[in-house]
Formats: sequence, structure tokens, C-alpha cells
Amino acid sequence: MRLVLLGPPGAGKGTQANVLCKEFKVLHISTGDLLREAVRNKAAVGLEAKAYMDKGELVPDEIVTKMITEKLKDTDVSSGFILDGFPRTKRQAEILDKALETLRLPLDMVVYFETKEDTILRRLTGRRVCRKCGYNFHVTNIPPKKEGVCDYCGGELYQRDDDKEVTIRKRIDVYNNQTKELIDYYTEKKLLHKASGDLEVNALFSELKKGFKESGMI
Ligand code: ADP
Ligand code: ZN
Repeated sequence: MRLVLLGPPGAGKGTQANVLCKEFKVLHISTGDLLREAVRNKAAVGLEAKAYMDKGELVPDEIVTKMITEKLKDTDVSSGFILDGFPRTKRQAEILDKALETLRLPLDMVVYFETKEDTILRRLTGRRVCRKCGYNFHVTNIPPKKEGVCDYCGGELYQRDDDKEVTIRKRIDVYNNQTKELIDYYTEKKLLHKASGDLEVNALFSELKKGFKESGMI
């Protein structure tokens, strides 16, 4: 299974990636997670990236594509992967195509999470993330068993710096202006598969599995 998850922030890409990776034993590659890890480790790229992330802007293509191509080269991705939050620009998509061509691991499908704006806002303002394993919770939709503590690893849950309302609005604008065009890009390549990002976690997961079955992926 080689997938790209495409959609606005708050569409539930990270949550579905978490669930899909558990079920299908594939690698979850999230540029957002990789960037936040670089910030935590105080890596030079992390410091440079943080300024953009805090403003809700895209980190420059050079930084992100380098990170992804290295990850694809250095990790065993032969059993499959789910790219979450990448690509986000046409340039990133073209670089990804080249990298996957070299590896002879073409994409099976690009899932587009069509999502209403009020769903996005509700999800992002209530989102809490595990500091240790990156798992996503939500104060009311996906509450942890114990407040502030990750169900899976016991790590501390926190609210991301960019999950504040002004920054969320900016991220939605950036998505509409820079990422949305990838819908056409992947439609032309006959890879796009639409799913409803407004569904709750399990319903969306079932819908995705149905789509995978119909296209012979599972
Ligand atoms: P969300 O999808 O909820 O916005 P992410 O964790 O995917 O959250 O991304 C958080 C931030 O990290 C983005 O606002 C952006 O600054 C940066 N980022 C993540 N992925 C990319 C990418 N592919 N290209 C450029 N910037 C990225
Ligand atoms: Zn955790």
C-alpha cells in the first residue's frame, strides 16, 4: 500500500494515517511530524522551519523535499507507506514522482479528504497531540482515557503552537492557494480517490477500506 493523503488541515489525515498504519503495517511519513521533531531536536532545519510553521505558512520546498527524499532512501519502504501532509505544492509532487520512479515504487492512490470549513475549525481547536508518539486526540471527539495523557504511550498531550484560531485561518488560506491544485494534478494521473473528511474516525476508516478493496489494493 503506497498512499498520499491530501486535504485541508484538520481533515483527519493524521488520525486516519495512525489507524491505517496499525491495520496494514505500513510506514506513516508525516512531514509535519518530521518538522516538529527537527524543531524539538534543535536541528538547524528545525529552527528555520519553525518560523514558517508558527505563521501557518509552508516551509520552503527545498527543506521539505530534502527531508522526504532522504527518508525514502534511508528507510525500508518496500512494505508500503502513507504520506501525510506531503506533497503540498506542485513542485513537491513532481519531486516525489521522480523519487518514487527511481525506487520503482509508484503510488497506488491519492486519497482526497473533502472537508467542510466548520469541521476543520472544530477539529483543530480541540486537537491535542502526544509529545512522545505523535498520536492525535481531540478533547471531545477522541478524548484520551485520562485527561492530558496518551492512551498508547503515557506521553503528555499538548496543543500545537499552530492550532490557534488566527494561524488555523492562515493555514486554510495557504491550503486553498497552494495545495488545492494537487487535486487536478492527481486527477489527471488517475490516482485521486475522494473520501469525506467530515465523517467520524471509524466511519471514514470503513469508507477508505471499501475504496481500497474496490481498487484491488487489499
Ligand atoms: P496540518 O495538516 O494540520 O496543517 P501538519 O502537521 O501537516 O499539519 O503541518 C504543520 C506545518 O508544517 C504546516 O503549516 C507547514 O508550515 C509545515 N509543513 C508540513 N508539511 C509541509 C510540506 N509538505 N511543505 C511545506 N510545509 C509543510
Ligand atoms: Zn503517545
